[in-house]
Amino acid sequence: MLYRRMPRVKEELSILGFGCMRLPMDGKTVDESAASRMMNKAVERGINYVDTAWPYHGGEGEAIVGRLLAGGLRGRVNLATKLPSWLVKTREDMDMYLDRQLKALQTDHLDMYLLHSLSADRWENLSRLDVMSFMEKAKRDGKIRYIGFSFHDGLSVFKKIAGAYDWDFCQVQYNFLDTNYQAGAEGIKYAAGRDIGIVIMEPLRGGSLTVPMPEELRRMAADLSYRAPTLADLGLRWIWNQPEISVVLSGMSSMDQLQQNIESAAHGWAGGLKPGEPIFVDKAVKFFQSKMRVLCTSCGYCKPCPQGVDIPQCFTNLNNAALTGNWAAQKANYNYILADDRDGNKASACVECGLCETKCPQHLPIRERLKEVVAAFEKD
Ligand code: SF4
Ligand code: SF4
Repeated sequence: MLYRRMPRVKEELSILGFGCMRLPMDGKTVDESAASRMMNKAVERGINYVDTAWPYHGGEGEAIVGRLLAGGLRGRVNLATKLPSWLVKTREDMDMYLDRQLKALQTDHLDMYLLHSLSADRWENLSRLDVMSFMEKAKRDGKIRYIGFSFHDGLSVFKKIAGAYDWDFCQVQYNFLDTNYQAGAEGIKYAAGRDIGIVIMEPLRGGSLTVPMPEELRRMAADLSYRAPTLADLGLRWIWNQPEISVVLSGMSSMDQLQQNIESAAHGWAGGLKPGEPIFVDKAVKFFQSKMRVLCTSCGYCKPCPQGVDIPQCFTNLNNAALTGNWAAQKANYNYILADDRDGNKASACVECGLCETKCPQHLPIRERLKEVVAAFEKD
């Protein structure tokens, strides 16, 4: 395993982090013995960063991770979880959630504590409640060690939040198809310039880059002078190629995925892409873009929708399904992300007022495409 250091974090962190939002399932519940075998193997192979959050696995995720780490593994990993920012209404809520999280995770401290899934509205609400004094007190009290945030909004909001505090780290969505998505490449450079450590989520675009390489791409890969990599391997190493990134989280569901990711991580040096690979990535990006249903860049300018429809998320899932052909997985992801207790609404909440279309720089027929989203993900 290779390790990197964030400017404000003392420990060396494994470049591959174990994301615990897609643990192996046995029917509708997590298969804890399979998950435990994976966690043991991960730690044995040098992974020392484990990430979970309040809503994962229907709210059971933290207690499950607590059990997976009990019995000796807790002291060998940097444990990350997140304040569920959309549920916080008062300062007392912050203390209550942190204490419940520590209990569920069977630990007296969290190494990495993030404000979860910040957007402009959530940051405004948390700032009004003086969330940073809560975070700093938690740090002084020894309940948390490093302070960060995860993010889902546009670039200008990212810069505003990243510039508002000397964060130890942040967690953003990034992969070779999404260099202009949310914080994107520019946001990452901006954060790195402020000595903020970078953790990447969705490095394989919610599974889009785990599919077997399509035949057209395979032919393009024939130009490469070595055995064509898998898309997943290339996707991970493309991120590790960038020195400002420290940890890449992968939500692993099987021992096979863990093993493959560990093999990729063994070659995850900064500047480690082989000759020809950057050009192949450019070709792959163009190929995937040609398959997309909606040329939405997820810029977020159409937000807020008066009905709360999370338009970029709707189109992300539609495009991912068209790219991968895995409509069931994207349907599950859509219904998880836009579940009732979160603050984005599904496409079916659209009343066709047309306001979003007046703001979309791509001039997309948003109302029509949202009907496709409803048909794809909200019907049995
Ligand atoms: S057309 Fe639909 S999605 Fe667009 S702003 Fe109106 S309600 Fe929201
Ligand atoms: S629908 Fe248009 S405005 Fe909304 S995120 Fe996509 S590209 Fe941006």
